[in-house]
Amino acid sequence: MHELLERKKGLHRTILIVDDECIEREMLGAMLQDSYAVVYAENGAVALDIIRREKLTLSLIILDLHMPELDGYTLLKIIRSDSELRRIPVIVLTSEREAEVTVLQLGAADFITKPYDAPDVVRARVGRSIELAEDSIIIHETERDELTGLFNKAFFFEYGKLLDLQNRNMPMDAIVLDINRFHIINELYGRYFGDMVLKKVGFSVHDIVCRTGGLACRFNSNCFGIYLPHVPDLAEKLPQMLSVLCEGMGDCKITVRMGVYHDDGSGLDMEQRFERAALTCRKLRNSYTTCCEFYNAELHSRELYAERLMNDIDRALEERQFRVYFQPKYCICGSRPKLTSVEALIRWFHPEFGVIKPGEFISLFEDNGLIQKLDRYVWNVAAEHIRKWENDYGVCIPVSVNVSRVDAFNPLLGEILNEITGKNGLENGKLLLEITESAYTDNSQQIIDTVIGLRKQGYKIEMDDFGSGYSSLNMLTKLPIDALKLDMNFIRNICSNQKDRRLVGIMIEIARMLEVPAIAEGVETKEQMELLKELGCDIIQGYYLSRPLSEEDFEVLLKEELGGKAS
Ligand code: C2E
Ligand code: MG
Ligand code: MG
Repeated sequence: MHELLERKKGLHRTILIVDDECIEREMLGAMLQDSYAVVYAENGAVALDIIRREKLTLSLIILDLHMPELDGYTLLKIIRSDSELRRIPVIVLTSEREAEVTVLQLGAADFITKPYDAPDVVRARVGRSIELAEDSIIIHETERDELTGLFNKAFFFEYGKLLDLQNRNMPMDAIVLDINRFHIINELYGRYFGDMVLKKVGFSVHDIVCRTGGLACRFNSNCFGIYLPHVPDLAEKLPQMLSVLCEGMGDCKITVRMGVYHDDGSGLDMEQRFERAALTCRKLRNSYTTCCEFYNAELHSRELYAERLMNDIDRALEERQFRVYFQPKYCICGSRPKLTSVEALIRWFHPEFGVIKPGEFISLFEDNGLIQKLDRYVWNVAAEHIRKWENDYGVCIPVSVNVSRVDAFNPLLGEILNEITGKNGLENGKLLLEITESAYTDNSQQIIDTVIGLRKQGYKIEMDDFGSGYSSLNMLTKLPIDALKLDMNFIRNICSNQKDRRLVGIMIEIARMLEVPAIAEGVETKEQMELLKELGCDIIQGYYLSRPLSEEDFEVLLKEELGGKAS
């Protein structure tokens, strides 16, 4: 049988006739064999084997309903529910009128009644079914995403708009769904598995719109869109939807995130709804805990603001909108606080938004790597100022700069810093490097290696925000650092909260054990300063002694500090 198929395909379109009655098969075959390659199967099971093997070359299946092994109804259902087989049209052979409606409902393209009509009628019905199926494949392929069979983006929006026009008062929700860390799934399990995941998610997405009505599409690699009639209790239904989506992937754990625009009657068009759903979905990118979020307007304006800041950074650097402020650190070991160094803190003087504090943009720029550019700018300014103050006032004031976690992973960090200190004629030890504690816990070994390398070159490392991360005591003893900066959240309440005071005491003890100074930041009152002094803290930084100052204001302070010694 298979050989016959091989010989004949390519010449004609191929038709599979499935009937347990030999005579019936032969009769039908005789009517068609001049125009088609005909293959035969004597029951549903044999037929299914052939269909699976020859799914790409079969143009039509003619199917009897009553057969041993696997009957025609069951085979028809199997074909119609299999995404790879359902493109092959099926004509059903019936002798009962009642069966006609049933088989058409099951997805048969047509039926031929037994005993057969005149051969011309049979050939006409066969020809028309093949033609219709082929036309619909052509339409289907331009509309559909090849892998999942869902609409592609262009058609999705086209049909969606049509749907909206036809149902003007029907509220519609938009959902954007993304598979978390899909590129890692591809890398770990291979492309074939990745495709399987996409197909599976695509199938579940299709299933959702089959049940709720609406449309689904694949926007791009691992991102899907669902446009469905408004579901008032969608929030309750989503967890169930999500769990179905992630089932059945074997050992590989798949998680997805969903951004939802819930129709509130504000009359946005389909594209605007999806923009908002996509924005909400993007926001979940770095969240480990939330997998689904509903759009809200406040979030939207925040995201737009963030987007705006990211677009503005190059121009801001060119136009010197970033300015470095300096906040003094004082040693409190002696009878009066003594200036020891300063911390460089960035400020953005934005032409439209005014002064923007780093809390609003640092993490944003860490996400997209722009922070490296910005930090390099700050380090340069810091080094230039150490040089300038030494030249102008004859004192060397070390400046600590913040080194973002992104910088700490850059293998060229040492070279970049050396270039900066080199061109300003500075010892490396005059640039103090603040690295936040949580960066150590992100990837401790790599950071530790970087820090060891930097210390070998003479840089001093201060662990910033100590207490906010999760350093284990074991890790702390291995850490190559030169100072511990206690997180200011612990300082805030030390005068009123006994527990915070104890904690700060313990952190100072840890610094002592590591034989490095403890620095407290965020010191706002005299009481806090005195308490810290009592607890054995070495250095403080905070509004009580000085706010972060512009270059000009810092020079005024420096002159006072030097007691008129400077020129
Ligand atoms: P940080 O390095 O822990 O800096 C200390 C922050 O505490 C600064 O906020 C400073 O202005 C603020 N501060 C100082 N004294 C007090 C006080 O007495 N009370 C209160 N409430 N706050 C005080 P700022 O300048 O807004 O910076 C926030 C964070 O942004 C910094 O925390 C640092 O992590 C980051 N940052 C600042 N500049 C840069 C930079 O150039 N590069 C990088 N990568 N990060 C930076
Ligand atoms: Mg800092
Ligand atoms: Mg800090």
